[in-house]
Amino acid sequence: MAATPDGRFQKRLTTQQAVALQVDIANGMSKAAAGRKYGVSESTVYRILGDKYKPKRVPQPCGTNAAYQRHRVKGEQCHVCSAAHAANQKEWSDGKKRA
Ligand SMILES: [Zn+2]
Repeated sequence: MAATPDGRFQKRLTTQQAVALQVDIANGMSKAAAGRKYGVSESTVYRILGDKYKPKRVPQPCGTNAAYQRHRVKGEQCHVCSAAHAANQKEWSDGKKRA
């Protein structure tokens, strides 16, 4: 049981599948592995498990490339993050990220 033939994920599980998935997770299966086993995305696994399993997303502070991307999406200007992004880009173009 994996992705459907057209490559998309099956979005819904039967109640039995959902229960079996919860048992697998309780037995220590990773969310990603469970998703593959039942043919659903990892976010669907989290939805089935409920919010208590959802990892909290902590926004990166200003001065990181992640924060720069966040500002960019929101259309905000932030000089601290712009500088961090510029440094990140320079590092990348200098080839330091390619180990
Ligand atoms: Zn910022």
